[in-house]
Amino acid sequence: MFKPRSTQRQTINYRNSILQFEPAKLGVQHKSSLRLEDLDIQCLVPNIDNFHFNILVVDDMMQKQLVVVVEILKYHNLIKEYDIPLDTLCQFLSEVEYKYNKKNNVFHNYDHGISVMQNVHAILLQLHQTNNSSILSLFNQIALLLSGLCHDVSHTGRTNTFEINSLSNLAIRYHDRSVLEQYHAAKSLKLLCVPNTNILQSLKSEEFRKFRRIFISNILYTDITEHFNLIKNFETKILEQNFGSQDEDIKLLSGMIIHTSDFTGGAKQFELSKQWSFKVNKKFEQQYELEGKLGYPQLPYMKDLNNLSVMAKQEAGFFKFIVRPLWQSMSKYLDNRLQKQVEYLDEKIQKWEEIANSE
Ligand SMILES: [Zn+2]
Repeated sequence: MFKPRSTQRQTINYRNSILQFEPAKLGVQHKSSLRLEDLDIQCLVPNIDNFHFNILVVDDMMQKQLVVVVEILKYHNLIKEYDIPLDTLCQFLSEVEYKYNKKNNVFHNYDHGISVMQNVHAILLQLHQTNNSSILSLFNQIALLLSGLCHDVSHTGRTNTFEINSLSNLAIRYHDRSVLEQYHAAKSLKLLCVPNTNILQSLKSEEFRKFRRIFISNILYTDITEHFNLIKNFETKILEQNFGSQDEDIKLLSGMIIHTSDFTGGAKQFELSKQWSFKVNKKFEQQYELEGKLGYPQLPYMKDLNNLSVMAKQEAGFFKFIVRPLWQSMSKYLDNRLQKQVEYLDEKIQKWEEIANSE
């Protein structure tokens, strides 16, 4: 069994503005008596229900860490349904944020996690307007939203290839298979196995085991090596008349939603999308340099990314052959409700191609 965290660590985790929401500070004597649904907090983050959401403009930590998550969970009635206590949610989010941000990753940080969760939320809202609106149960929805939030927890800032080539402890532990994804899932699930961060304490043990299976499956679908298989299987399966009647179908649909959401930055308007592109390329640039120093194999797509035309060429190709087909496929299932995002992707491919050719 997992042991509770030390008291010292808890003190560190309460360093941020979530402190303001510690029930004791609100004058509440018995922690468990304060329920999230009774709390009147205003979400000041714009576009929380659509694809224009931009976490990068939010510098109020409380809004970023607690309010966005509460707002989304509340929208789907999940706080009430799963009776999530405020103090536990505060501690859970504090730990999630700490694990994301402790390495100061330029891309795989808390902002990315929360953006993916929000994109899952925006896709669910579109799904709810189709004839398949009830295909995902509340249980599947909470699993999907939390998977989105946690899918890159404790990211090392390197790729799976780097972990494998460097024979890292993680690569050894997970036998080179979806090394980081397995790690993110395990680190997050550990939080749900500790009473003070287990926001799903209302689940019976059988339900928790089911949640764990779905959560792991969702996060494993964020491994890019699953990309082509996932789209191919999804596009074949949705043609079947009774799609949605099997657990396997729900697994596939959830995988598509989380994987599409993982590329949320790419489906935004160019000016915003560009910011995420620079972040991810900075990460690749750092890794390429480190691989060179350590004598590990270097991947050509990470080479010379500080040269804008090289980076632009890589971006155009990545969006064209990986991200666009994914969003297009998701959109098709949602009665073409994501066509605006597909248009943004087309516009972006064109802009990056122009930059690549003009430099
Ligand atoms: Zn991610």
